[in-house]
Amino acid sequence: MNLASRKAPTTEAQRRLAYFNERRDAIVSTIRELVEIESPSDDKAALDRMAEAVAQKFSQLGGKATVKVRVHPAKDRGNHLQVDFPGNSAAKPVLLLGHYDTVYPLGTLAAMPCRAVDNKLTGPGVLDMKSGIALMLHALAALQDWHKADLPRPVTVLLVSDEEVGSDSSRPITESLAKAAAAVLVLEPAHGYQGAVKTARKGVGGYLVKVTGKAAHAGLDPQKGANAILELARQIEKISSFTDLKKALTVNVGVVSGGSRTNVVPAEAAAQVDVRIARMKDAAGIDKKMRSLRPFNRKCKIEINGGINRPPLERTAGVAALYAQAAAIARNLGWKLGEAAVGGGSDGNFTAGLGIPTLDGLGAVGDGAHAPHEHILISELPRRAALIASLIEQA
Ligand SMILES: [Zn+2]
Repeated sequence: MNLASRKAPTTEAQRRLAYFNERRDAIVSTIRELVEIESPSDDKAALDRMAEAVAQKFSQLGGKATVKVRVHPAKDRGNHLQVDFPGNSAAKPVLLLGHYDTVYPLGTLAAMPCRAVDNKLTGPGVLDMKSGIALMLHALAALQDWHKADLPRPVTVLLVSDEEVGSDSSRPITESLAKAAAAVLVLEPAHGYQGAVKTARKGVGGYLVKVTGKAAHAGLDPQKGANAILELARQIEKISSFTDLKKALTVNVGVVSGGSRTNVVPAEAAAQVDVRIARMKDAAGIDKKMRSLRPFNRKCKIEINGGINRPPLERTAGVAALYAQAAAIARNLGWKLGEAAVGGGSDGNFTAGLGIPTLDGLGAVGDGAHAPHEHILISELPRRAALIASLIEQA
């Protein structure tokens, strides 16, 4: 072990860490309140209730400062929530980005209650990402406390309602706020129990491949038919061959459907395809390949819909610089903050795609996002909050 490389925490960093250690239970209870308001992405009434409760919490941070809470109404999704904190400097705002929807239907809480067992806090959406919202609230409250109500620089918070279902409704708002920001901090879950931040995320695409053949009696005159399932099977072989691991480009046929009865030559079949790219420059190539699929059997027709919908979050110089700042803050707090490249996308992909320095995975540490064992580690909350607060000042 190399003791010399481990820097002792500075007094200021220690003070901040102690501040959040004292408030650890308060952070946990904010998380619990948020988890106990269920907010599935497809339930507007539930989402709007959640947005209302979160808006309330942010307005309470108003105090002497003029905090502006703004609701962006969404027709079929929950309303998106924007909160602007003026700062006492002319610096561009930092954008704190997150979502308050979860993948869990109403009623999940009964089977998966928000409970603290030893160091783990469980519940639907506790990791992804209600604890991220709680960390925003507590980091901002601390900054107001330390800086006598005024933040040291302007901060914009955006919490969207549709991240788990593709962010179609919120994307324009995310992009316009990101363009005005100096940096974007995404409070999505950290990577692994080590709590690494995410400095690269793959871009995501989706395609629907529909084959139309010709129905016929499988016993009497099969030669008059054109088997759409057979055609699709050949296409799936071809589509799967587009995977190029050297480029970290993957193509996955994840859902297939087709046919009606065993004694009928099927006239229809379809496949849903997931595409992941690590570099934006690979987007056009894979899109072209998907669109150039032609039927093997000329009696079949193919229709292709879809495209790349989230650009990759690439580890640009801006992203690397933001990570270096975060790692330096963590070092002062006495720990080593790692970085990770992951396959899943987030709204950080949109902001990074615009060239705005973006650091993702700053939220809670835990495991089991979208799964029954979803949980966070309570002991990680104080230093996470301290990191976020300091990064807001410096980014
Ligand atoms: Zn998430």
